[in-house]
Amino acid sequence: MAAYDPDNIFAKILKGEVPCHKLYEDADTLAFLDIMPRTEGHTLVITKESAPDLFGISPQGLGKLMAVVQALAPKIKTAVGADGVLIQQFNGAAAGQTVFHLHVHILPIKDGVPLRPQETGMAEPDALAMTAEKIRASL
Ligand code: AMP
Repeated sequence: MAAYDPDNIFAKILKGEVPCHKLYEDADTLAFLDIMPRTEGHTLVITKESAPDLFGISPQGLGKLMAVVQALAPKIKTAVGADGVLIQQFNGAAAGQTVFHLHVHILPIKDGVPLRPQETGMAEPDALAMTAEKIRASL
């Protein structure tokens, strides 16, 4: 299992040291908008366990995380008017992981609109705030 860095960016978001556009939170899970969205409504669902990747979380914790993904994804899809939802999760740098705190991507997909490449650029804060407001209103 990979080592866990307690100062990674998502750990800082969990500690309230770095802001995020929060969509949902419970005792085990936090969901917020990706700061470099590949589609409108690109959301990250993270565990509150100190798990670097899929292999570092307890089965119970993984169940809770995926239950939140399952509950949020269709609501986010509807909120942004998408036609489908891509769920992605990367383990290890070789597989495309850049933040080593377990997270699941929810990517609402609209017919005919291609996915932007990973980490192409930061979204405008105002645009993210508007998207977050729209999604929160539908949860
Ligand atoms: P990955 O590790 O490749 O599965 O993806 C990490 C994701 O975290 C990328 O899509 C980044 O755009 C996103 N990201 C990095 N820093 C932040 C942040 N401070 N707030 C929200 N999303 C972030």
